[in-house]
Amino acid sequence: MAPEGPAQAIDCAVVGAGWAGLAAAIDLVHAGRRVMLLDAAPQAGGRARSLSLQTGAAPLALDNGQHLLIGGYRETLALLSRIDLDPDTVLHRFPLQLRSVQGLSVDAGRWPGRAGLAWGLLRARGLSVGQRLAAGRLLATLPPDTDRHWPQGMTVAQWLTDRGQPEALIRRLWSPVCVGALNTALHEACARTFARVLRDTFRAAPDAFDMLLARRGLSTVLPEPALAWLHSRGAEVHLRCPVRALARNPEHGWTIRTDKGLVATDQVVLALPPRAALRMLEPLVPGGTLPAHSDFEEEPIATVWLAWRDTLGLPDTVLLHDDMLAAAPGQWLFSRPDASGSHWHTVAGVVVSAAGHTLPDPQTLAQQVKNQVSAQLAVPPAPFARAIIERQATQRCTPQRPRIDRAQLRRLCPGLELAGDWMWPDYPSTLESAVRSGVAAAQELIARASPYAAI
Ligand SMILES: Cc1cc2nc3c(=O)[nH]c(=O)nc-3n(C[C@H](O)[C@H](O)[C@H](O)COP(=O)(O)OP(=O)(O)OC[C@H]3O[C@@H](n4cnc5c(N)ncnc54)[C@H](O)[C@@H]3O)c2cc1C
Repeated sequence: MAPEGPAQAIDCAVVGAGWAGLAAAIDLVHAGRRVMLLDAAPQAGGRARSLSLQTGAAPLALDNGQHLLIGGYRETLALLSRIDLDPDTVLHRFPLQLRSVQGLSVDAGRWPGRAGLAWGLLRARGLSVGQRLAAGRLLATLPPDTDRHWPQGMTVAQWLTDRGQPEALIRRLWSPVCVGALNTALHEACARTFARVLRDTFRAAPDAFDMLLARRGLSTVLPEPALAWLHSRGAEVHLRCPVRALARNPEHGWTIRTDKGLVATDQVVLALPPRAALRMLEPLVPGGTLPAHSDFEEEPIATVWLAWRDTLGLPDTVLLHDDMLAAAPGQWLFSRPDASGSHWHTVAGVVVSAAGHTLPDPQTLAQQVKNQVSAQLAVPPAPFARAIIERQATQRCTPQRPRIDRAQLRRLCPGLELAGDWMWPDYPSTLESAVRSGVAAAQELIARASPYAAI
């Protein structure tokens, strides 16, 4: 991109190289478009990226936040295949395990799909027979996609009570599942989204509720292979290149102003978090078209990384508390699949979702979680403990969360599509919703031979 002179011309600019922007860029390149991908940050991946932490002895390759994927992330897994990557080489897959230190245990074992779930619930430990039957009944009677009986405007707490779920089951099973999936506390979380996630996970293909963890870091799952693939197909990628503004050209297409120069493009995908997207769009549309910045609310997530020099044989995952209101902060522990071979032989990420809690400062949190894990799992205190707090990890997933009127935006801004985890209706902020939104944005632009085709 030339800093001075006429704007560089391309078919489609994708602004934001998080998982949504990467998905959009890949599918546009697949369709033969000349694509330019731009991101303000020095690396791709956005909220799901690797980073290197100094541990004194040797740097440790970790992630900005512990992420869990599930087998039901169909679009994400299909996207990896579209860039010629075998998901099994970058993701460690294991059957659903919901085991808490306090004795709750739902384990699909080696049975695939619903049979595994039924088996897991039948044999669940830590739940009474009545609770097991209630949980099975809820899962067996989830409404189909088109059903008008989907809970509207309700919180998860209200919906579960309406569906006759016993209080102890709600607290010990559904509350951790809700916070894990929606990162929002039960009494605030959107019932419709929760029911949809349950249905798409537990009533889908046999492997939909397998658990998947990045083997060597999130950047090796999508961001790095995606950039390599895009480069090999002639796409231009500009990192450290914040986009400052967007203007609609009088005749056709768009001009993008970046710190490195101007870009003229037929079409644009804005794959940004909501407030950044609003700032870009507000000068282009009449007042009142878009939600207010204050309508968007985020929830933080903290990850406390722990590392030991010894091999401790920790489980793939364990729920440290099956009571989300417990005093100790750590909720889920995930073992790093391919830690062995490095200086640190056991590495684990402990997730602390702030839903319903206030997070202390990172040093205090790291110390608290280190002590908690040592006491609960009877392992030595980890010599390395570091907390990373992402303040704007996900959108708060309430029934009232704002929505963009896509059809109206398309009329006002032809040739422009929005993407991002917040743009996939009825899903929480996840990697899968980010990827789906990016794929959908690309498909919409590909379907239009000209951005000015009839809408
Ligand atoms: C700690 C943590 C834990 C999580 N755990 C899970 C989990 O277990 N499972 C799961 O599925 N999801 C999880 N998520 C959510 C998941 O990471 C996000 O939903 C997903 O990464 C969002 O992707 P995105 O592309 O929509 O947005 P982002 O990743 O936010 O990407 C937006 C990109 O836009 C760029 N950008 C911003 N402004 C500009 C500008 N002006 N010009 C150019 N570029 C700009 C940013 O640098 C960024 O790269 C977690 C998130 C966090 C933070």
